[in-house]
Amino acid sequence: MAAPSRLLIRGGRVVNDDLSQVADVLVEDGVVRALGRDLLPPGGAPAGLRVLDAAGKLVLPGGIDTHTHMQFPFMGARSVDDFHQGTKAALAGGTTMIIDFAIPQKGSSLIKAFETWRSWADPKVCCDYSLHVAVTWWSDQVKEEMKILTQDKGVNSFKMFMAYKDLYMVRDEELYAAFSQCKEIGAIAQVHAENGDLIAEGAKKMLALGITGPEGHELCRPEAVEAEATLRAITIASAVNCPLYIVHVMSKSAAKVIADARRDGKVVYGEPIAASLGTDGTHYWHKDWHHAAHHVMGPPLRPDPSTPDFLMNLLANGDLTTTGTDHCTFNTCQKALGKDDFTKIPNGVNGVEDRMSVIWEKGVHSGKMDENRFVAVTSTNAAKVFNLYPRKGRIAVGSDADIVIWDPKATRTISARTHHQTVNFNIFEGMVCHGVPLVTISRGKVVYEAGVLSVTAGDGKFIPRKPFAEYIYKRIKQRDQTCTPTPVEREPYKGEVVTLKTRETKEDAAAGTRKQAHP
Ligand SMILES: [Zn+2]
Repeated sequence: MAAPSRLLIRGGRVVNDDLSQVADVLVEDGVVRALGRDLLPPGGAPAGLRVLDAAGKLVLPGGIDTHTHMQFPFMGARSVDDFHQGTKAALAGGTTMIIDFAIPQKGSSLIKAFETWRSWADPKVCCDYSLHVAVTWWSDQVKEEMKILTQDKGVNSFKMFMAYKDLYMVRDEELYAAFSQCKEIGAIAQVHAENGDLIAEGAKKMLALGITGPEGHELCRPEAVEAEATLRAITIASAVNCPLYIVHVMSKSAAKVIADARRDGKVVYGEPIAASLGTDGTHYWHKDWHHAAHHVMGPPLRPDPSTPDFLMNLLANGDLTTTGTDHCTFNTCQKALGKDDFTKIPNGVNGVEDRMSVIWEKGVHSGKMDENRFVAVTSTNAAKVFNLYPRKGRIAVGSDADIVIWDPKATRTISARTHHQTVNFNIFEGMVCHGVPLVTISRGKVVYEAGVLSVTAGDGKFIPRKPFAEYIYKRIKQRDQTCTPTPVEREPYKGEVVTLKTRETKEDAAAGTRKQAHP
């Protein structure tokens, strides 16, 4: 028998980013049909309508994880959470949409990479997803493909790496060109902000000192390396009036750069991740190599233990905007590729299942933010920035029925032994979190309930995103109209112009001639 196609979520506190209200939510054909008091017909539920009691619970828009890397071929390995297991884990944690990255090799087609990632994801995803595309090199072809991806393929965000020298890294003039094109086509530019040249030099230095363990990973790329690149990216984006999104904000100093830029009026958004909000880089000095190696990611977690609190405050107060995870998981045997050399440890940590609970615990339970701000930073803001709003990121009539029934008082203990992520380690091991998803609804179907997943591979769909998101582009367009400099009107200079001629000029010319005669 088919599952009931209609759901009534009854008596919960419906939380949007701007308002909480006790209301029933009627779901039909994958969307929210009605929202209000007492929607249950007198006489009880008719056939085909399933009633979910949410009294005393919160009813939240499903989480949107802005940053994942499922089954990503990287550093001689492939991340172990594929689009199937990865999206199952997402749903178990209350996340109903992920945005992953299609990443071409230098010299390769962006469109081909996009199609490759689609072919991996489409048959496997259990929740909706979308794709950012990386720009890892520059040419007229890349420029044209960005336009095609935006106009025909539903991509409105492009990521540039300022790190991973010789692999993905692009230089300032390429950033300038890519940012200019993003603005032309109405996309948002994203950057991995770290100085790749300094990392390469720092790594050589650490290895020469005999530091081969995971602590070398942090030591060769300290905070300043992240903060410098963050400021450089903001400066370049500002020069072309292109909106900018800094992925995985990991340090206090990089977050400060973003906060300062926003105070300065720049259109820039910062994305801390579950890892940077929930744990820190002291783990790189852990005595067990595998424990330390499992925390290796780029940019690294920071040894300053006040970092997570600091980032959470900025997230609560609006200096930082969205949250992702950079979920890119490698098992211990894969991490061991770098057992004698930290530069060979595949970079990446878990988070897709943990993000919502970690942010509830450290953000809401701690008193830093309220339930509405929680919805904003885990879902609504991402939907606005990436132009999915109000289809996603809101519980309203007509919105997709991606909904979580959330118990703010229940607790769970995060552990690799019980999580749904494939990876055999969890960087939040042992963390007790208030805030537990009781029921997850994806596209109007109950897919997770009382700890049990009922999903079908391929039930999630690719969600195309249109360019020129109003949330970010209204200001950009207005600035173009009002802030473009014009030439000063003045009398032309009519006096004498002196041309200098020197002896060297003649001699140089003669030398040039001789050279040509005898190459
Ligand atoms: Zn990433």
